[in-house]
Parts: sequence; C-alpha cells; structure tokens
Amino acid sequence: MTEIQNVYEKIENIVGTKYVSDSKPICYSYSMNCDTVLQGIPDLVVRPITAQEISEILKIANQDKIIITPRGGGADLTGGAKPIGKGGLVIDVTRMNKILDVDEKNQVVTVEVGISWSELCEQLRHIGIGYYTGSTGPASGFSATVGGGLSNNSVGGGGAAMYGAVTEQCVGLEVVLPTGEIIYTGAKANSFTEKQFTRFGLGPDYSGLFLGDVGIHGIKTKASFHLYPLPEYAAFNTYEIKKAKDKTPSERVTDVMIQWQQNHLPLHDFYYYPPTFVTILRGGGGIFGPLKDAKVRGGLLYYTTVANTQKDLEHNVERIEKIAKDAELRQLGDTLEEGNFGKWFYEEEGRWQWAYAYWGLTGTSAGTCGSCLKCPTYQLPDYIKLYDDWNKRNVNKLNEAGGGSASFIVFGVYPTYLDITGGLLFMKSDPELREKHYEIWKDLIIAQIKETGGIHYWMGEIIGRALVDSGALTEEYYNFMITIKKALDPNGILSPGKFYLGDKY
Ligand SMILES: Cc1cc2nc3c(=O)[nH]c(=O)nc-3n(C[C@H](O)[C@H](O)[C@H](O)COP(=O)(O)OP(=O)(O)OC[C@H]3O[C@@H](n4cnc5c(N)ncnc54)[C@H](O)[C@@H]3O)c2cc1C
Repeated sequence: MTEIQNVYEKIENIVGTKYVSDSKPICYSYSMNCDTVLQGIPDLVVRPITAQEISEILKIANQDKIIITPRGGGADLTGGAKPIGKGGLVIDVTRMNKILDVDEKNQVVTVEVGISWSELCEQLRHIGIGYYTGSTGPASGFSATVGGGLSNNSVGGGGAAMYGAVTEQCVGLEVVLPTGEIIYTGAKANSFTEKQFTRFGLGPDYSGLFLGDVGIHGIKTKASFHLYPLPEYAAFNTYEIKKAKDKTPSERVTDVMIQWQQNHLPLHDFYYYPPTFVTILRGGGGIFGPLKDAKVRGGLLYYTTVANTQKDLEHNVERIEKIAKDAELRQLGDTLEEGNFGKWFYEEEGRWQWAYAYWGLTGTSAGTCGSCLKCPTYQLPDYIKLYDDWNKRNVNKLNEAGGGSASFIVFGVYPTYLDITGGLLFMKSDPELREKHYEIWKDLIIAQIKETGGIHYWMGEIIGRALVDSGALTEEYYNFMITIKKALDPNGILSPGKFYLGDKY
C-alpha cells in the first residue's frame, strides 16, 4: 500500500466517504488556478467542514509526511492553490462557508473562511441596518473566498481607496497550525475573552504571521472583520484623460491622483485605464460599448465616493471634482450610456467584474499571467516606462511564445499608494508553450522587482520564487523566514516550494 492509499482510509474516517477523492478527473480539476501556465496535480482532494477535521488531517499528514496545499476558490493567478510539482493533498475549505456572528455592538463580523466575498457582502446587506466589510475582497470576489483573500493580501474588489487591503480590516483569526494545533489570534487569544474586537494586544501581532502568508504558516479557518454600515449616499464620475501640450495622460492622471490622496479626500475607489486599454475596450463592446458613443480617446479615470447625508456627499463631490477640473480633465456624462463607469462599478457590482474585462481580453484560447503589485502613486510614470521598455526588448520572445504583451490598469489604495494590476496577456495558451510563458512571465516579475522596486502581494508559486531568485530578499531576511517556517512546520508539509521554503531545509 502506498503512503497516499494509507492516508486515504484515515482521511475518509475523518471527513466521510463523500468528501475525499483520488479520482483522476477530480484531482486534475484541482491541478491549476486561473493562470494558464502552472500545474501540479494532487493525489487526493479533501473537503473538510470543521477546524477539528483539518487539525486531524494535518496530524496524519505529519506522521506520513504528506504534502498539503490549502485552497479556497482557486482563483489565484500565480499557482498558489495547487501543489508545486509533488502531488499530495489539496484541502478545499469551501464547505466552511457560514457567517458565524454579526456583533453589531463591536461592529465585527466573524465568518468561516470558505465563504466568498460576494456572498458575505450579500448576506451582510440584509442584516440589521445593512453592513459591509469596507474593503470587499479582490475583483474575483464572486468566486474568491475570504481565506484566499487574507492569504493573498487581496485588494481590488471595492473600497480600496478608503479601506485598503482586506488584511487591514482583519480583527483576528482562527488558524490550524501545520502541526495540527488550533489557535486564535487577536483578542480571542485571551481564552477569557468572548468576542474578537481588536487585532492588537497580548504581545506581537500574530494575525500578521498568517495574513498574506499564501498558506505557508497555517490553514485559516475563521476570520473576523470590522463592519461598516452601508453608506446611504454615493456618487461617481468618470473622466477622459488625453495628452495635453506639455503632459502625457499618465503624468496628468498621476498629478490628480496624488492630490486626491494627499488631501485625504473621501474617495471610496478610483481606477485609471491607460489609453491602450481603453482603445481595446472600445473595440470590444459589451459593458464598455458606451466608450465608442462617448467618443472617448485617451485614458479613463473613474471615482466613487460615499457619505451618510446628501450634504456631505455634495461636499465630497465638490472637493474631488475641483482637483479634476483644475487639471482640465473632460468629465463624461452621468449615465453609464454616457461612459460613467464609476456608476457601473459602484451600483452594478462592477467591483467584482472589472478584472474579467482585463483578464478576458484575449479570449478563452489565450493565456493570462498576473503580476499585480503596489507602488507609490508618484511612481506611475516609471511603471509606464518599464512596461513600454520591457515590451520592446521582449518582442521577439513574445512572438516566439505565440504573441502577447505586458499591460496594466491602476487603482488607488488607502492611504497613498496605487495598485498596478495586470501582467502578461498571451495570445495562445497551448500546454507546449507553458515553459516559454513561464520564462517570460518570470522575467517581467523580476524586472518589476529590480527596476522599480515593485511590491507584489500574491506570491503563489512563481512570484515568491522570483523574489528569492532576484536577490531582493537579503540573506538575513530569508533566514528569518526559514526560521519561522521551520518552527511552525518542522516537517515542511504545508505548501512546500513557495519561496522555495520546505525544499531547502
Ligand atoms: C478575474 C480575476 C480577478 C482578480 N482580481 C484580484 C484583485 O483585484 N485583487 C487580488 O488581490 N487578487 C485578485 N485576483 C487573484 C485571486 O483571485 C485573489 O488573490 C483571491 O483572493 C484568491 O482567493 P481564492 O479563494 O480563490 O484563493 P485560492 O486561489 O484558493 O488560494 C490563494 C492562496 O491562498 C492560500 N489559501 C487559500 N485558502 C487558505 C486558507 N484557508 N488558509 C491558508 N491558506 C489559504 C492558497 O494556498 C493559495 O496560496 C484575481 C483573479 C482573477 C481570476
């Protein structure tokens, strides 16, 4: 009997026959994420329903030295939620999808981590006075889970300019450690405390050890977040950004975004689509069809703002728009038909759809390889130059790989930085091109890291490794990571290979 067959029976005893499988089609369907390059086929897939079940599975995995990969919605774009090369066991947490507590007094919600962001927000909307989590997940929030968002430091599914990444709204966690112990972080680490209400206290911020960890330090099972009443009033507007005499569109938009952020204006969200992206969207039609009728040339900037009274809202709009007006940006009309994508973003759940327009640009037979990152707002023109230069110097390689290019769009993140979201769009996604695509993709990531000091936030398989390979992490820092990983996961069973950890010790 192989090790895997041996654990199969033990795991079946924990979760029941229905929730474990070694069927080839099922394992294959868990072998990839939304990127088209990175694959790793698990030997077993398990769908537990409690932290206790996960704890028992991890204890068995330690005894039998079985590799574990945690998985939420599988919407990762960098190969994080499937094994790196070696099979093992994928733990799918999406059966753990309940809201456990809405604490209106402390304004904190506690959930099981397998719930999706859109489901969480939809349910919160109907509770009490109507709530939301401020930062409402990644743009993939229709399928991505709370656990995946916390593990990837996600941001981009709404509320980013006002509330930052989802990890910043996290109050505390329940985590199963790689060796199977279950702990709370946040206020509930005090076993005499009934409810999570603050993340900080009781010594170091141990929630932080598991936030953005891409599943290398433990498996999150519960999470608590700050709650915010749904704003009663919202406004949104969209601008066209063309070249002016002395300034490129990117320079003009950078000036406006810097002023918006440095004056701490109450922007809920703002997004900038560069001219090339707008040209493509204009041709594509669909939700972006109005761009053609509104005769938009150049780039597009939209914002949303919220308030609790009409008067406050008007004040917000006045201050936000004054800066745009002073910069002589052309404001489009109020309706979506006139090009007001801010309206679509806020009122029609565009916050969980805008990225599909980006990643879906090249169609179903094409490939997408993400490399989103954070950068200081003033650095946007440097990134535009980086992408232009990188595309020029890689034109031959891209052609040999079936065609494609690096591109991005931009959104504002609280308090004063931007997310440069995007990466590579390849025109073909044939399996035989994967090796070439991997090489080109990694080259772009390393260029972002080294040439502009980019701060990536999902690491998956490729980005964590590129960080190590690029030499960005000092020896002291990397040794510190190894020390923590070894202490938590002495057998290296949890997500081995990410950052090369677990492979090298
Ligand atoms: C169309 C599209 C748009 C996207 N937009 C954004 C965006 O705006 N912002 C953004 O940040 N990302 C975005 N992404 C990338 C990705 O979807 C998000 O990072 C998302 O948060 C992943 O959640 P998930 O539940 O799908 O996680 P998975 O893909 O299942 O997992 C992501 C990582 O977290 C680990 N993990 C998952 N659950 C747990 C757990 N319970 N405990 C420990 N580790 C765990 C996995 O091992 C993996 O490394 C987008 C992807 C797509 C396809």
